[in-house]
Amino acid sequence: MIIVLKTDLTEEKLHRVAERIESEGFYTRSISQYGKLLLSVDGPNTERLLKEVTKWQDVEEVIDGHFPYYLASRKCHKSNSVIRIGKGDNQVTFGDKEIPVIAGPCAIETAETALAIAEIVKAAGVKIFRGMLFKPRSSPYSFQGIGKDGLEILDEIKKQTGLLVVTEVREACEADMVAEYADIFQIGTRNMSNFQLLKYVGQMNKPVILKRGMGSNIVELLCAAEYILSYGNPNVILCERGIRTFEQFTRFGLDIAAIPSVKELSHLPIIIDPSHASGKSSLVSSLTMAGIAAGADGVILEVHDNPEKAFSDGTESITPSQLKDLIKSGKKVASAIGREL
Ligand code: PEP
Ligand code: MN
Repeated sequence: MIIVLKTDLTEEKLHRVAERIESEGFYTRSISQYGKLLLSVDGPNTERLLKEVTKWQDVEEVIDGHFPYYLASRKCHKSNSVIRIGKGDNQVTFGDKEIPVIAGPCAIETAETALAIAEIVKAAGVKIFRGMLFKPRSSPYSFQGIGKDGLEILDEIKKQTGLLVVTEVREACEADMVAEYADIFQIGTRNMSNFQLLKYVGQMNKPVILKRGMGSNIVELLCAAEYILSYGNPNVILCERGIRTFEQFTRFGLDIAAIPSVKELSHLPIIIDPSHASGKSSLVSSLTMAGIAAGADGVILEVHDNPEKAFSDGTESITPSQLKDLIKSGKKVASAIGREL
């Protein structure tokens, strides 16, 4: 259950409300987000408390536990959240008219190949480079990433190209180290429900691309975002990256309906990852167009100058010339719906 308190409440009064609730055997946590002051309350039989608390004068509203993603919802925040990253010419905006493209290899392999791909995506007009160092893989025998040695490579890419950089953070204990180099964290599909990690990055200010769990529904995705928001970080970008279906031709099913559905339920921006969704480079462009048409606020793409030699996900990595064509078509689709890619 969440108690929305009156906005003019002093710290002292907040403590008194919390103490009164705790004295009845409940646990409380105070949350400040979107200019609102909230108390999260858990414990047995909150229904009884709910009826009573509604009458208290410091209480604006009580949200019962059946509505588990209040901060992520349009009920809490009506207008779209706009997340700005970077400065000057390098600034990108998620959740507004712009549709930023994020592109790069699945994983950083060597400094030379990563830099070469970064230069290629920059020349195609991309402002954000992706390249993972820590790879949570389904099989322990698959390439696990080059790890922290690659952080210096990310730094070099940023210095040489001016691109913003997205990289994956796998565990809470890695987050501070990765934050020094990454402009945006990625939390991958396998970690959407790593609640300790969500709580940890929630206490940082770093923008987070939160990928939908491959077996998670939309409400579960919004609940995962709620962890980050409720620990204080408003910079959450959701990502539809495909969910498990019975289809075998594609690796996952890109849930296009998730885009307008999330927009109906939530103010948070949502981007798509057609690379991991399809697992096939031949499908990436079509899925991107469909995603843009459905309202996606950005696209994250795997690009490799030599996909056959890629250490991971070569089958879904598009070539530099496919990237150029994709951007050309994407601009047309974006402009048809009054947006800019
Ligand atoms: C990735 O972006 O490299 C990745 C592994 O994505 P996902 O977590 O969606 O599988
Ligand atoms: Mn990949």
